[in-house]
Amino acid sequence: MYFIYAVMNAGKSTELLQIDHNYLRNNMQTLLLKSSVDTRHSDTEIVSRLGLRKKAMLLDDDSVDAIIAHIEKNNYACVLVDESHFLTKKTIWKLSDACDDYDVPIMFFGLKTDYMGHLFEASKTLLELADNFRELKTVCWCGKKATMNLLQGPDGQIVKSGNPIHIGDSEYHSVCRKHWKAGKIRADH
Ligand SMILES: [Zn+2]
Repeated sequence: MYFIYAVMNAGKSTELLQIDHNYLRNNMQTLLLKSSVDTRHSDTEIVSRLGLRKKAMLLDDDSVDAIIAHIEKNNYACVLVDESHFLTKKTIWKLSDACDDYDVPIMFFGLKTDYMGHLFEASKTLLELADNFRELKTVCWCGKKATMNLLQGPDGQIVKSGNPIHIGDSEYHSVCRKHWKAGKIRADH
């Protein structure tokens, strides 16, 4: 069980689709899943910012049992899960059972923390349960490692409180800790 985490725009979906491609190239079958919460770019596809896209099954508390039954019946080399930070604790525990019972690796890709700087409940669960961890890195506008997600509302103001799940017209910026604290999205902001 893997947790591959990053800030926004670090290339999580691109990395997921690359790993998927590597399995397929070796004639191994994979199962692609994504949280049903985030359907910004597509309802049923995993979409990378580089233009790659691929169909995925939607995962949530309602579909997890059927998906696990599907995993049991098929001999997948790997299960790849996008937008894992939106999953519930219950779904992640159930998938960890599938990982153990059917001996299939499951790779969860997601954000570690929300725009307020706190762990998502799902990310906390993944940090507790997974046995392998990897961070995908990207940089702040200042050149330092970006470790935080800064949320800018539609009015241009920086948002630091509210619902941790925030999808919409607002814009995310991946920044270093110092510039997250200062709320600076670029040098002249
Ligand atoms: Zn910075």
